[in-house]
Amino acid sequence: MTGHFDVVVVGGGPSGSTCARLCAEQGLSVCLLEEHASAGIPVQCAGLLSLAAFEECSVPDSCIIATVRGARIVSSLGPVLSFDAGVPKAHVVDRAILDREMLARAARAGAEIRMKTAFFRREGHSIVTRGIRGKEEISFGVLVGADGAASRVARESGMPRPAHVLAGLQADIAWRMDEGLVEIHPDASPDFFGWAIPIGPGRARVGLAGLRDVRTTFPRFLGRFFGDGHQATVHLVSGAIPIGPRARTYGNRVLLVGDAAGMAKPTSGGGVYTGVRAARHAAHVIGEAVRKGKFSDDDLSPYEKAWRADFGRELSLGLRLFEVRRKMTPGDIAGIIRALDDPAIIRDIVSLGDMDRPGKIVRRLATRPELFPLLGTIIRSMVLKNFNKNIF
Ligand SMILES: Cc1cc2nc3c(=O)[nH]c(=O)nc-3n(C[C@H](O)[C@H](O)[C@H](O)COP(=O)(O)OP(=O)(O)OC[C@H]3O[C@@H](n4cnc5c(N)ncnc54)[C@H](O)[C@@H]3O)c2cc1C
Repeated sequence: MTGHFDVVVVGGGPSGSTCARLCAEQGLSVCLLEEHASAGIPVQCAGLLSLAAFEECSVPDSCIIATVRGARIVSSLGPVLSFDAGVPKAHVVDRAILDREMLARAARAGAEIRMKTAFFRREGHSIVTRGIRGKEEISFGVLVGADGAASRVARESGMPRPAHVLAGLQADIAWRMDEGLVEIHPDASPDFFGWAIPIGPGRARVGLAGLRDVRTTFPRFLGRFFGDGHQATVHLVSGAIPIGPRARTYGNRVLLVGDAAGMAKPTSGGGVYTGVRAARHAAHVIGEAVRKGKFSDDDLSPYEKAWRADFGRELSLGLRLFEVRRKMTPGDIAGIIRALDDPAIIRDIVSLGDMDRPGKIVRRLATRPELFPLLGTIIRSMVLKNFNKNIF
């Protein structure tokens, strides 16, 4: 046995670092395991964070590569919808730097960080790790699974699976675009969307995610930027995005946070905001449990209640929108873009649009009679039914 900690956190991404830091700040003994040599590498992210999400990460501005004010939604059939808030709305960050900064903050708060050390298996109230220090056994009060999309902690704990897992592919390319606007290409992928994000003069981060055919849709999408001219891709990112949270995210002294719990937003695939918010709730509940010395499921269940109360409804609505999106054709999408291209609607989008909490703008749009025929009865009945139930 190589030690006992109140909390062992598996995974040094944004969710794990935040949970470790907030537990350490309460005076708990914390050990964080990260299987890689450096946090945030390999990068598996586009790095687009709302201002609120960036704020939640509590990192210096040196992580920011670019700042955007709005978006252009581009249909492959022609219509384009632009909205520009005229003020900063989101940052594009360097995830490798962001993750390293967040982990350094956890260390400064007192968490013991063990790099190149992987969670291997659980044995009662201990875990077995493998890595640079060889095989070790660490006992814990609470085990936090912040180990991302392929969470071994979740698998070992027999937790239910997330509803879907998207595959994402992305490349940084030479491409001149409006440096203040993100581009969304809704029909670049048959069931999700593609993006082009400005990352500096003459450079863009271009990617897409989907449930299927990503290996064929991605090169086709890149072709929209390269045209007939050949351009080498010298930077490629691939990764999985679990959406539709696991039906249970706690139990038997384990809490799951972030991608390990399937908390990425089904409308955007973004998971940093929800992961860090969940980590806050987890740290609070763990603090209470450790102070009382009680670790039963009843003692840990407030974690799931708290994150569901915070953003669970947004994830449920997002999942329904995702299901509707999967049924849409490029023609349907072009029709929606044309219908939204109205000054009053664009004003609504600019004032109510929130990347992290899209419920507000969806509710607003769903009550606009001029959009009923285009949004179709599915979205309308879905949204209004939920509205009546006060799910927003
Ligand atoms: C192509 C793509 C683009 C994306 N773009 C965005 C975006 O623009 N904005 C956004 O908010 N989100 C985006 N996401 C999602 C975002 O990357 C994740 O939601 C986010 O990283 C989740 O953070 P996390 O800390 O929960 O998990 P992760 O960041 O995945 O961290 C998990 C950590 O656990 C470690 N680990 C795994 N297994 C073990 C083990 N057994 N032992 C020890 N350590 C282990 C890993 O090495 C990793 O460091 C994107 C994802 C992809 C794939």
